[in-house]
Amino acid sequence: MNLRELLPRSLWLAPLGLSLVFVLGVLAWVRANEADEQEQQRQTMISDALSTEAQLRDRIDDEQAHLRQLAAALAGQKPSTAALAAHPEVNAGLRRLWQSVTWLDARNRVLAEVPEDAEAAHSDDGLSLHLTARVAPDGVLVVRYAPALMLKRGVPWWLARKYDVQLVDSADQVIASTTDSPMRAAQGARPSYRVALTGPLRASPLAQSTLTDAALELTLREPAVNGVRPLAWVLVAGFLPLIAVASWLIRRQMRQVQRAEVAGRTEAAWRRAMEDSALVALRARDFDGRLLYVNRTFCDMVGLPAERLVGLLPPMPYWPPDALAEVAERNRRNLAGQAPREGYEAHWRHSSGRLVDVMVFESPLVDAGGRQIGWMGSIIDITERRRLEERERRQVETLAHNARLTMLGEVASTLAHELNQPLTAIASYNAGIANSLAKLGVQDELVGGALKRLGQQAEHAGRIVARIREFLTRREPRHEPCDLNEVISAAVELLRRELQRREIALDLALSPQAPPVLADAVLIEQVVINLVRNAADALLARPAGRHIAVSSRMAGDFVRIDVQDNGPGLAGRRVEQLCAPFYSTKADGMGMGLAICRSIVEAHQGVLDASEAAAGGALFSFSLPLSREINPEPAHG
Ligand code: ADP
Repeated sequence: MNLRELLPRSLWLAPLGLSLVFVLGVLAWVRANEADEQEQQRQTMISDALSTEAQLRDRIDDEQAHLRQLAAALAGQKPSTAALAAHPEVNAGLRRLWQSVTWLDARNRVLAEVPEDAEAAHSDDGLSLHLTARVAPDGVLVVRYAPALMLKRGVPWWLARKYDVQLVDSADQVIASTTDSPMRAAQGARPSYRVALTGPLRASPLAQSTLTDAALELTLREPAVNGVRPLAWVLVAGFLPLIAVASWLIRRQMRQVQRAEVAGRTEAAWRRAMEDSALVALRARDFDGRLLYVNRTFCDMVGLPAERLVGLLPPMPYWPPDALAEVAERNRRNLAGQAPREGYEAHWRHSSGRLVDVMVFESPLVDAGGRQIGWMGSIIDITERRRLEERERRQVETLAHNARLTMLGEVASTLAHELNQPLTAIASYNAGIANSLAKLGVQDELVGGALKRLGQQAEHAGRIVARIREFLTRREPRHEPCDLNEVISAAVELLRRELQRREIALDLALSPQAPPVLADAVLIEQVVINLVRNAADALLARPAGRHIAVSSRMAGDFVRIDVQDNGPGLAGRRVEQLCAPFYSTKADGMGMGLAICRSIVEAHQGVLDASEAAAGGALFSFSLPLSREINPEPAHG
């Protein structure tokens, strides 16, 4: 299969391919969009982390400032729990964030502490951090506070809802968290950001060191739901099967169309081949007589190419110019739908000038919707048929003429034969009378002269008759080898129309073994024609079921031909009677047919016979001898 065939076949793949490209584009766009969003999210988180860190630092600084104020207020006072508890700054601090305030002396011994059971009260607040401030002259104030509480109070609610905010140390240990159960393990999957919060966080009140590497970590509670991605997946998941189904449908449709196309092309090729090979000329015309279509046979018939014919309106170039008015009139009648159903004959003119006899059959031309749009004509060239018919007619005429001539000859010959005797008798009687008168001594010039002229005239008449006979019998039958079956077939063929007209069925049963005989084919044909004609005449007496059987067969050294009919039969008449010259039972019969037949058959050393047929009717037969000249060993059977 080459590319030109393959391309239209795989065209249905194009929408599928384009759709896949589209889907990949959408996915790429979603990915880019997602990356963008993540970056934006990260930026927001960084700024949120930085601002949270600043707020926490401010808060711690604030608490530190409060503690310093408290230390300044307590400077010089005697350390006592009561004094500490009474101080409003202490109470305010405890309400805010502080877990406890402890007054230590220079050797870190507790001088006073508020609340008194601070350890117990806040043992479940998790890790604690501390703030310190010097109290003059030599004490130290230590404030314990829970970073967890600080986170809960210091981180705005919206931030806490968005992020898990945690304080972690250098070992990644959570110091404090806004959530109660931070899911460190799961954090890896969530985006987070860490900002160092060193300096202000002091783990122990005694150590001067601060928590190094402590950091504030913001972890996105739930990654922002990307609205585009799932939607994109849903669309893609829905779109791909849809497009697959659509492609499959397109492919099926294309296959169907292709099949229909191939079928259409094949049909068109078939139709064209059929039209071009048809012996019948075809032409389609609309109601105005405009030629819509002609096949090749039509073009050949009128000698013009289809391009010159299609589109033409009457009068047509193939109409004979001498009968234009008549043809135009008939054409109008035909277009009006009054063309004879059994067809009509027309004479057309080939472009070479030759006349063509045609038989035209018109039938309605309908379109795909079943509506008649004109007329379809089927035209048969009957020129040759007409010619053959004409020749046949002439042949039959000639035969009939010949038959009449032969008959006349036979009549004349018979007449001559019959007249010869009386003429001879007249001559002898004349001579006898002249002799008798001479013996009697009658010397009458008048009578003698009359008798003499009578004798002369009788002789003259005898000579004329003899000459006629001589002339008529001069033609000897021309004996040539001839196939009797062929002769019979030819004779029967000449009579076929006549028999059809008279509704007579004819059966031919010719023996294929019959060898050729030496005979005059023309004369034998005359015999067969005569016998079959006689049978046909006899059959007129029968109203129906008329039947003639002609057969040939071998009979010893003869070929025998039988002509049998189912007519009235011979009514006991014998062949001699029937063959007698001038014997006829027909009103217009001459009675010479059988006589001639017999003389022809006998001239061939044959025999003519007539008998009653076994099944009723007459059986005429004649046999012709096989010649040793052309059949050295005549067949028997
Ligand atoms: P024609 O045909 O002029 O009468 P034919 O010599 O051919 O002269 O026939 C002589 C007669 O023989 C016919 O008139 C008819 O009476 C009789 N004949 C010939 N053929 C048949 C036949 N097949 N059946 C009956 N009669 C026949």
